[in-house]
Amino acid sequence: MIKFQIIQCKSVLTKSNLPKVDYCINPYVGCLHACVYCYARFMKRFTGHTEPWGHFLDIKVNAPEVLAKELARNPKRGTVLLGSVTDAYQPAERKYCLTRAILEILLRHDFPVSILTKSDLVVRDLDLLKQFSSCEVGLTITTTDEAIAKNFEPHASVPKQRMEALEVLHKNGIVTYAFIGPILPDLTDLEAIFSAIKGKVYFIMAESLNMSCGNRLFVEGIISKKYPSLLQLYKNGFSKKYWDEAEATTNMLAGKYKIPIKGFFSH
Ligand code: SF4
Repeated sequence: MIKFQIIQCKSVLTKSNLPKVDYCINPYVGCLHACVYCYARFMKRFTGHTEPWGHFLDIKVNAPEVLAKELARNPKRGTVLLGSVTDAYQPAERKYCLTRAILEILLRHDFPVSILTKSDLVVRDLDLLKQFSSCEVGLTITTTDEAIAKNFEPHASVPKQRMEALEVLHKNGIVTYAFIGPILPDLTDLEAIFSAIKGKVYFIMAESLNMSCGNRLFVEGIISKKYPSLLQLYKNGFSKKYWDEAEATTNMLAGKYKIPIKGFFSH
């Protein structure tokens, strides 16, 4: 059972400490993609939600209006990341179109925009994205295997749809990238990902699985249910050496497929 709530927000444009990002905008609180490994589940603490992560969604219906007022005050121009603790293109966006309305306002003020999503719905806004003087769109690719994706990211677009979205965006001149992460040990096939994204992205970023953001129970739960032979491996944890090797493999594949790598984030 999902709890939906329409809320009024007081502010939208949030200063960011993320690299190469000046502001974040999150049109929703919560995320119905419900990824098992989600790092953003800490948001529950700040919002008073008691429902499990992936089972609630607050919809900031006045976000476009508030943003328009904030931008009218002429804040310093800077890159805006759409969706840092939610996915701006999660299923509810089809109905509420908040991300689209936000893009229209950012475009009027010519703020550079950066989007990272797991949904092919982003293609809906291609007409707007093409008009930005600076715009990049990343699709998270954790795996090319539909069953693995379904187990870990139950309500996100399937990998094939994400690849198709990257292809359409790329063909239309958008700066696209693949965010390969989190890398799921013994499940993520890095070479299959590189092979599938070739010709569709300008660069990649990658990230190790972070099991220390309140998600251990959920990751181990799905491993125990779907991949029991890997449970001990996941329970033991992964050494620095393990991730150094994953990074070396990623670098090797980036060279082989001639796709620049802009960062490998290890936890
Ligand atoms: S899409 Fe991102 S924010 Fe949404 S549940 Fe998955 S990891 Fe969390």
